[in-house]
Amino acid sequence: MKACVVCGAMTRKRCGRCSAWSFCSIECQKAEWPRHKEACRIEAAIAGCLRRFEPKRSMGQCWVCLEETSSHGGCSCRGDAGWVHVACATRVARTSPGALPGGMDSEAWLVCKTCKQLYAGGLELALCAQMWRECCGDEVKEAYASASLAARLRSHGCLREALGLSRKSRQVFSRTFGANHERTHMATVALASLLAGAGNAREACALYRGAPVGGIPGIEARIQYADCLRTLGETIEAEKVGREALGESERCLGQDHDLTLAAESSLAATLAPSEESEALFEDALARRRRVFGPDHQETLAVARNFATSLATAAAGKGRGIALLRDTYRRSQRTHGANHPRTLDLAAVLARLEIS
Ligand SMILES: [Zn+2]
Ligand SMILES: [Zn+2]
Ligand SMILES: [Zn+2]
Ligand SMILES: [Zn+2]
Repeated sequence: MKACVVCGAMTRKRCGRCSAWSFCSIECQKAEWPRHKEACRIEAAIAGCLRRFEPKRSMGQCWVCLEETSSHGGCSCRGDAGWVHVACATRVARTSPGALPGGMDSEAWLVCKTCKQLYAGGLELALCAQMWRECCGDEVKEAYASASLAARLRSHGCLREALGLSRKSRQVFSRTFGANHERTHMATVALASLLAGAGNAREACALYRGAPVGGIPGIEARIQYADCLRTLGETIEAEKVGREALGESERCLGQDHDLTLAAESSLAATLAPSEESEALFEDALARRRRVFGPDHQETLAVARNFATSLATAAAGKGRGIALLRDTYRRSQRTHGANHPRTLDLAAVLARLEIS
């Protein structure tokens, strides 16, 4: 039995769509619907994602209450022994110092207290959703929780729900802390990156333009901004922003840092086709191969972009196709023949070989 969220009467009845909220009657549900509507859609998305993590049969011993459970949730320190009830993990999370909803740290709730790393997969999402529910009613806390939940939903492919949460939390931060507060800036960049991922480069660019320049988040935001500008065909501005990002990343993080390499291949794509673009791509690819290995997914992504950019000019077509064939073979081996990245490579290769 749970309390009806409207009148408090104890009930077994739940919202038929999300089954996460309790309503004792149709009247109570109707009264709450205007406010529950958005949350209901998000609950349904969460439930959909969590279904993918449900184990088929196996059971293990919960590391909190020591009883049997079928919910497997991992952290790096427990590996295959990481069985835990979500309710038990939630009780542990509540005792984390500073964690929402008691404190203000939305990530502390999601960290294993033994190994200090974020929980993995289904458990991370389930805990994050529970934190978000418990923050309901306190606008600022809910904004923190929503920002965390948006990031998880995005990584599970629920872009639309993530966008809704991200927009709302940015509004609240901006109203509460002001437009120039660091938290608002972080929310702005997170929203811009979601918009870019959803194909809305124009609105993303408008947000990136106002984002701060400093530090690692600043460099990351600049690279994404340059990518967005390129998508919109504003190559002159994209080149300027891209060069700034690359320069700052080299200075602050070094030649072989992940972000420096990302900035280098982003600039290469903006400058293509040109000799400088080719040189940058060559360098980025060589470094990736050395630092991450030739079959790493980021290495393969750079190789793919380099190959397609080579193949757009008649002079580079042969080299481009050869590089793409090699990349495709490596992807088949590492990701499998039916992985989306492998399928994408197959489609690009087919297009180039025909044209
Ligand atoms: Zn009621
Ligand atoms: Zn509902
Ligand atoms: Zn348990
Ligand atoms: Zn752990």
